Amino acid sequence: VSLVGAGPGDPGLLTLRGRERLLAADAVVYDRLAAGALPTDLPANVELHGVGKEAGHHPVPQEEINALLVRLAREGKRVVRLKGGDPYVFGRGGEEAECLAAAGVGFEVVPGVTSGIAAAALAGIPVTHRREAVQVTLLTAHECAKSDGTQVRWDLLAQDPNATLVGYMGASALPGAVARLLAAGMSPGTPAAMVEQGTTSAQRSVISTLASLPDAVKRAGLKAPALFVIGPTVRHADTLNWSIRRPLAGERLAVPTEAVELRTALEEAGAEIVPVSWPVTSAARIVLGARPLTGCIVRSAAEVEAFDEERSACGWDSPWTAWCLRNDATERARQRGWTRIEVVDGTDERACAADVIAALVTARDRRAL
Ligand code: SAH
Repeated sequence: VSLVGAGPGDPGLLTLRGRERLLAADAVVYDRLAAGALPTDLPANVELHGVGKEAGHHPVPQEEINALLVRLAREGKRVVRLKGGDPYVFGRGGEEAECLAAAGVGFEVVPGVTSGIAAAALAGIPVTHRREAVQVTLLTAHECAKSDGTQVRWDLLAQDPNATLVGYMGASALPGAVARLLAAGMSPGTPAAMVEQGTTSAQRSVISTLASLPDAVKRAGLKAPALFVIGPTVRHADTLNWSIRRPLAGERLAVPTEAVELRTALEEAGAEIVPVSWPVTSAARIVLGARPLTGCIVRSAAEVEAFDEERSACGWDSPWTAWCLRNDATERARQRGWTRIEVVDGTDERACAADVIAALVTARDRRAL
């Protein structure tokens, strides 16, 4: 069993080894937070087991996940346990490894990019900075919600002005954590931020001060998965938030896998790309459904149909724009009643990417007016 860190959400932040293990697996057991990082080219015969919390469904109890890992391994399968971020940073990866060890199942850990550092970075916050923050604390804020008290020493953390605090599982626990820090004497003006779905197309962040953060987060309606960052380096967010300034930040586009140049150009412009080949694999289906798409690029009538069927099967209802590279695609999209259709010449992928980028930027400017 390989315990693989899927990274913080952006599929590009899965490690090379993590991807290798996934492509060689017989079975993959994945969390909801890790779903978007599944490679869409995962072979169709790989068994997929989703064990995360999905809206409206209860999460699979930890004992059942442990038992599933042991069972699959005993069946002689190469198993990947795909977990959000890094497997050993919260999320009970240590417990799963202990259980495998106790059952005598061989395992390895493939570390991942943890959200506390990566989501902060993409919100413009370096977690350390010379002469400003000389240490970082990764903590679980969920502790605040527990009735039997907390193991986190908020009183000590509040004393250190040259440090960064990163609070995982921080969405609902934020007011409690802030109250404890203020009560222990931390300055109310300490820069503080909350980042939701960091590194993904759905990333949102709120930059504020310690005392004002809970209200600001409430106004903005940020929800889990989100983490808070408290400390002096948060003040850099306004200058270092390069990621949200990219022209296609926030866009999530399904693009044919084969259109490599097009994909690269759109990704460089800041879009999250879901590479798809039709008919889609089960893994691609999970990835497509992980977050709303803002658009898709279709080359032919057949791709329009495949996309449409996928869409009805998944129940996607958010509006998206279809970029049609050929006339037969445009015609079929119209026949199918698609409303936001843009016709682009797909002969040259670079030129096509430039057209898509320009149109999306114009659409955004129009929305901003
Ligand atoms: N092992 C994971 C953390 C699992 S605990 C890691 O290393 O990142 C789950 C918590 O992680 C969430 O409640 C949230 O606080 C945080 N988290 C995970 N992904 C996130 C993301 N993309 N943006 C912000 N917070 C995230």
